[in-house]
Amino acid sequence: MAERMLKFVSVAQEQPDKRPAQARRQDFNEIYDEFVPAKAEAQASRCSQCGVPFCSVHCPLGNNIPDWLMMTAAGRMEEAYELSSATNTFPEICGRICPQDRLCEGNCVIEEGFESVTIGAVERYITDTAFDNGWVRPVKPVAERDESVAIIGAGPGGLAAAVQLREQGYQVHVYDRYDRIGGLLMYGIPGFKLEKDIVLRRHRLLVESGIHFHLGKGIGDTDGADSIAFSTLRARHDGVLIATGVYKSRDIGGPGAGLGGIVRALDYLTASNRVSLGDSVAEYDSGALNAAGKSVVVIGGGDTAMDCVRTAIRQGAKSVKCLYRRDRANMPGSVREVKNAEEEGVEFVWLAAPQAFEGEGHVSGVRASRMKLGLPDASGRQSVEPVEDSAFTLEADLVVKALGFDPEPLPTLWGQPELEVSRWGTLMVDRKSFMTSLPGVFAAGDIVRGASLVVWAIRDGRDAAAQMHAWLEEMTAAQAEVAE
Ligand code: FAD
Ligand code: SF4
Ligand code: SF4
Repeated sequence: MAERMLKFVSVAQEQPDKRPAQARRQDFNEIYDEFVPAKAEAQASRCSQCGVPFCSVHCPLGNNIPDWLMMTAAGRMEEAYELSSATNTFPEICGRICPQDRLCEGNCVIEEGFESVTIGAVERYITDTAFDNGWVRPVKPVAERDESVAIIGAGPGGLAAAVQLREQGYQVHVYDRYDRIGGLLMYGIPGFKLEKDIVLRRHRLLVESGIHFHLGKGIGDTDGADSIAFSTLRARHDGVLIATGVYKSRDIGGPGAGLGGIVRALDYLTASNRVSLGDSVAEYDSGALNAAGKSVVVIGGGDTAMDCVRTAIRQGAKSVKCLYRRDRANMPGSVREVKNAEEEGVEFVWLAAPQAFEGEGHVSGVRASRMKLGLPDASGRQSVEPVEDSAFTLEADLVVKALGFDPEPLPTLWGQPELEVSRWGTLMVDRKSFMTSLPGVFAAGDIVRGASLVVWAIRDGRDAAAQMHAWLEEMTAAQAEVAE
C-alpha cells in the first residue's frame, strides 16, 4: 500500500473548492465544498508517512494522521473512519474549524516548498463519508452502571466527556442553559464555518446513545423552573463535570461607550445563528442586532471578530470595517479567515484603536487613533502605543465589541466560595486528576483554560472523563469494602 503514498512531488496541494465570494456573501452556508472521492484519495496520497509525524505531535488530540491518510488514499474509508474516530469524538467538526495552519498542517514536514497535506479537509471527508454510509453509530456500553454523572455545559468539552462516560456505562445527564446543544458550536461559530445541521446530526446520535439532555436549565445558586442549584445537582449525581466555557465579554470604556448601537460580539452572533436556525429574535427584527444597510465597525482581531465582520457582510451591511490595534502579522485571528473576510469585502484598518464613540443617543462614529508597534513586552509580544495627533473618525451605526471573553464568577454565582479559581477566574483543577477543589467535581474546556479552541475542549473532555471514571471506580470499590 505504501507505493500509493509520498505523492507530494507529483500531486499539488488542493483544498476543496471554495465558493466564489459573491455567492458566499448571500448566505450562511459553509464556503468549502466536500472533496470528491478521487480528490480526497489523491490529496491523502501526498503524505510521506513520517516515522515521527509532526502533524500528530501538534494535533491536540494526537490523531493518528498518517494512518488514516494511508487508508483514505487506498479508498479503505471505513477503516479510515475507525482510526480517525478512535482519538477524536467529533472529527467532522475539527476538520472544518480547527486552525490547521497553526496545528497539524502548519507542522507537516512537506510544508516547505510543496505545501502541507490538506489534513483537515481529509478528516472532514472521512467522517462525512462515514455518516453517509451509516458507519457512525450510537454508543453501546458493554454493561450499564448504576452511577450517574452530571455534566454542566453541552459544548464540545462537555459532550466529548459525555460520550466517553456513556461508553463506560454511566447514566449521563447533560445540563445546559441554552435550548440546543453545542455551546459555541451552535450559537457562537457562524454557519459559514460550521453548518448547524452538522451539530444537530450529532445531537440525534447522542440521544440515541442514551445520554439525557436537560436543556434550558441553567445551574445557579437557587432551584427554580429554569434553574437548578449546584448543590442539588451535586447531591443528585455521583460525580459532576463543569464544562461551562467562558462567557463574560471584555468591555471597552471611553467617552460614548454607553451609546446605543454598540453591542457585544456574542449577542450579535447568537442572534444571527438563531435566525439561521429559524428562531424569531426580537432584537434582530428591531435592527438592534442586525447589520442590514449599516456602516459596521468591529473592534478586535481574533476569530470572534472575523466571524462578526463576515456575518455583517452576509446581513447586507453597507460597509464593514475591522479595527485592530496591531498589524496583520501580529493578529491573533487565523490567516485563512482574514483572507476569506477580505475576499468577501471586509476592510481592515490595521494599527488603529478606538478612543471614543460619537453620536447623540445612538452611535454615529468611532473616533480612533493610529497606533505603532513598540518593544516586545514580558510575553515577547510587541507592545502598542498611540501615534500623537493621529485621531480620525470612522462612520458607524453599528459597533461590535469583539475583545475576548473571561470566565463568569462561578463561586459567587453558584454560592460555592470553596470552589477555587485562578486570578483570571478560571477554575483550578489538579493537572492529573482534573478534579476541582470540591471532591467529586471535575472541570474541563474553556472554563479551565480560558478562551481556547474546540479541539482542546474535546481533548480535555476526554481526559477528564477518563479521570472521573477512575475516581468513580475507586469510590465504588471503597464503598464495597466498607459494606463487607
Ligand atoms: P462552550 O462551547 O462555551 O460550551 C459551554 C456550554 O456551557 C454552553 O452551551 C453554555 O450554555 C453552557 N453553560 C454555561 N454556563 C452554564 C450554567 N451556569 N448552567 C448551564 N449551562 C451553562 N474554536 C475553534 O477551534 N475554531 C474556531 O473557528 C472557533 N471560532 C470561534 C468563534 C467564536 C465567535 C467564539 C466565541 C469562539 C470560537 N472558538 C473557535 C473557540 C471555541 O468555540 C471554544 O474554545 C469551545 O467551544 C470551548 O468549548 P467548551 O465546551 O469549553 O465551552
Ligand atoms: Fe488537525 Fe484539528 Fe484534526 Fe488535529 S483535530 S488533525 S489539529 S484538524
Ligand atoms: Fe504526512 Fe505531513 Fe504528517 Fe508527515 S507531517 S505524516 S507528511 S501529514
